[in-house]
Amino acid sequence: MNPFSTLGIRHDIVNAITELGFENPTPIQEQAIPVLLSGSNDFVGLAQTGTGKTAAFGLPLLELLDFSENHPQALVLCPTRELCLQIANDIKNYAKNLSNVHIVAVYGGASISDQLRQIKRGVQIVVATPGRMLDIINRKAIDFSAVRYVVLDEADEMLNMGFQEDIDSILSTTPEDKKTWLFSATMPSEVRRIAKKYMTDPHELTMGTKNTGNANIDHEYYVVRARDKYAAFKRIVDFNPEIFGIVFCRTKIETQEIAEALIKDGYNADALHGDLSQQQRDKVMKRYRDRSLQLLIATDVAARGIDVNDVTHVINYSLPDEIENYTHRSGRTARAGKTGVSIAIINSKELGKIRQIERVIGKQFTKAEIPTGFDVCEKQLFGLIHKVHSVTVNEDQIEQYIPRIMDEFKDLSKEDVIKRFASLEFNRFLDYYKDAPDLNAPAYEERSSDRGRGDRYDRTSSRGNYTRLFINLGSVDDFTRGDMLGFICSNARISGKAVGKIDLKGVYTFFEVENNVVDQVQQGFKSVDFQGRNVRIELAGDRGESRGGGRERSTGGSFRERRERRSNSTGGFRDFSGKRRDERHEGNRGGDRRKKW
Ligand code: AMP
Repeated sequence: MNPFSTLGIRHDIVNAITELGFENPTPIQEQAIPVLLSGSNDFVGLAQTGTGKTAAFGLPLLELLDFSENHPQALVLCPTRELCLQIANDIKNYAKNLSNVHIVAVYGGASISDQLRQIKRGVQIVVATPGRMLDIINRKAIDFSAVRYVVLDEADEMLNMGFQEDIDSILSTTPEDKKTWLFSATMPSEVRRIAKKYMTDPHELTMGTKNTGNANIDHEYYVVRARDKYAAFKRIVDFNPEIFGIVFCRTKIETQEIAEALIKDGYNADALHGDLSQQQRDKVMKRYRDRSLQLLIATDVAARGIDVNDVTHVINYSLPDEIENYTHRSGRTARAGKTGVSIAIINSKELGKIRQIERVIGKQFTKAEIPTGFDVCEKQLFGLIHKVHSVTVNEDQIEQYIPRIMDEFKDLSKEDVIKRFASLEFNRFLDYYKDAPDLNAPAYEERSSDRGRGDRYDRTSSRGNYTRLFINLGSVDDFTRGDMLGFICSNARISGKAVGKIDLKGVYTFFEVENNVVDQVQQGFKSVDFQGRNVRIELAGDRGESRGGGRERSTGGSFRERRERRSNSTGGFRDFSGKRRDERHEGNRGGDRRKKW
């Protein structure tokens, strides 16, 4: 027997939701549906967005209402137009095989006369945002005297948005003996108060721990200097080429600015905020839902209720003013059992806020490092390799060129062709990123701010243990530190992360690498030539270099720190499609990106 049938849902509805891909009830559906189907309780469900709430109350409503009667029997109040449309639509889909079911979505920013017309024709379920609902009530255009169920969805959001009075007025037009079902992602005292005010002995259901965020979300934070924030954000996006994300800003102006900068820089992004007309917002949302938009830059209010599946990342470009909003933001990812990442890009002064959020969501953040330029190169390179592997070959079209292509490559081995093909892109990336600075805020800043005292940053323990190596190339060979880093990484096939301080001298250089890659570096340079010269790598200790410029005596700090201090360039990115991403915006904030170390 279908598990929804076991819960008491009739065959016609089960068929409709099966078509929607609902095979098994989500935990909230499993627990709420039997309670709500009894029709005899008030109900409080503490559940995150994306857990299947809509069906948890929508399916029981369809079972409980009498669709032979054409008057309002259920009212669903929710905070935003987007959510309103979504709920109405979802319930219509569940009811697809039932006859005479009339559902109307009532929300602001759209023609009221259409909505009034639909109401006049007769509806049983009204899904509404409070403002427009009250407007219609005040026009005496609806009669709620026979309403049996009221659902307050995302109650905490409605209160945050200041709808308390509107809700009071709306509910005062409904009968005393109706049942009220309240859903909320969080349970601040205000929500508790309305639960108490409108309900008698409600059945309470808490999914997961109280206030705990969705377990499928990983929370990460990056600490950067305020001036590097935009560059860091882009680096994160570049490192995640498949990102499908929502980026939260605090104000409409910031939202617009970031979106414009991203568009100018060649990213597939657009803004969603309250200063846009409804038509513009609909257009943006449609593009996002259709996935023709990769990054949606939004304010909290505009993004409320957005239910788009498969959002991979939520990025808190600015942390929300209200901690509770963090839960709403992060709840836009990891929907319907999927996993997702919620990222906060903060400055060191904001660490306290992260700790506060951790307490509220009952989950710890992971501190992550802004990827280096080389990390991005590596990721993009392998992304390309993966694409090459999985590309669909249009045999008909390509066939005519194959003999000529084969002829071009006839002197090269398969390995050579692959190497050259990969280098074509990789060199371009390396070149583009070679001056990209480390965008992570120096850890001593972070620790002193985090702990409220000025601990000195212990470089050795924090950056792992390093071995100092010597290489017989230096500045006279026209190497910058960035060049050297690229040279080391590409020959030794190690990530830039494994390289520490680089002391570039005239005819030689000392550099640090993590102990576990020393052998790999030595192997990698075994037979490398540079302009006809044999490149030599030796352990620095073997060269007695500690007499001068060793770690203890260096005043320069780690490579990362130095790069941070000496370069105010912000790095850049050219994507594999060959499209140049304009770094102007980043550059304006950070200075000349071509500046050398
Ligand atoms: P909601 O929390 O109601 O916004 O639902 C989040 C997403 O999960 C929506 O896209 C639903 O279509 C989907 N969903 C809800 N219930 C189920 C289910 N039982 N099985 C699969 N997907 C579901």
